[in-house]
Amino acid sequence: MILIDGKKEAAKLREDLKQEVLGLKKKFNKVPGLTVILIGDMAPSQIYVRNKEKSANEVGLKSEVIKYPEAIEEKTVLEKIEELNKDQTVSGILVQLPLPKHIDKQKVIETIDPSKDVDGLHPMNVGNLSSGYQGSIPCTPLGCYLLIKKVEPNLTGKKAVMIGRSNLNGKAMAQLLLQEDCTVTITHSKTKNLKAECLAADIIVAAVGIKELVKGDWVKKDAIVIDVGINKTDKGLVGDVAFEEVSRVAKAITPVPGGVGPMTIACLLKNTIECFKRSN
Ligand code: NAD
Repeated sequence: MILIDGKKEAAKLREDLKQEVLGLKKKFNKVPGLTVILIGDMAPSQIYVRNKEKSANEVGLKSEVIKYPEAIEEKTVLEKIEELNKDQTVSGILVQLPLPKHIDKQKVIETIDPSKDVDGLHPMNVGNLSSGYQGSIPCTPLGCYLLIKKVEPNLTGKKAVMIGRSNLNGKAMAQLLLQEDCTVTITHSKTKNLKAECLAADIIVAAVGIKELVKGDWVKKDAIVIDVGINKTDKGLVGDVAFEEVSRVAKAITPVPGGVGPMTIACLLKNTIECFKRSN
């Protein structure tokens, strides 16, 4: 069984990106810039943003975090995004989700210039991905994709099952694997017999938010299992996959923590650099 070490792969990716930033600095006499907008004081969001800022600095990006209180008016946020859209020193803009209820998530996402949308959530980038055109790809699916390709470079004809159909995860992941000539099934909360769908899969990507949903007897021998889920328990963080059971059957599996999470952040940096390159 291959334990897919997301921490190690993310460190390698960050090192490559660091070298790339040095090259870009020489060539353009400037570095890519990432601006993150953080609204409110939700603890997980604060931690994510701190990690993103730290990693961005580590690879040599110019990084900025704009913090607003929970009660900030939607208009102020939208105006700030418009300002950042025009700012030549900002290559990528990320608004940390979730947002307070009074702020319209769709409006926020659609206000970000698609060429600076490092989260890949703008409808223009969603369309680009599903059309196979160039654009930003959501960071978590991109990270999962890179991990899968490390284990299995040729995915042609593989049966891939997504569990979860969110824009952020399942739908984008499905598009990436479709482009690799996989036969893709997207499952969700209304899917009948999820176990049978999983048992047919060569690749399973679980992004649900239900602790240890995927059991050992749901997984075909030699399947690749990618666990996106993050669930808080008394014993610490666990994924959507029953790790012990599944690791006895699978060919390769990502742990939680230390699997997909670190790759998500590294891919955010990668996306920022790609945005910079496309605009220069
Ligand atoms: P979401 O709530 O938007 O989507 C969850 C999906 O799961 C939905 O499509 C729903 O239909 C499906 N679902 C719910 N119950 C189900 C069931 N019983 N069987 C099958 N499908 C079911 O969540 P999300 O934003 O996509 O996040 C999913 C998980 O991934 C969460 O635990 C989140 O914390 C985690 N996450 C991790 C990272 C990372 O970097 N590791 C990034 C983003 C999200």
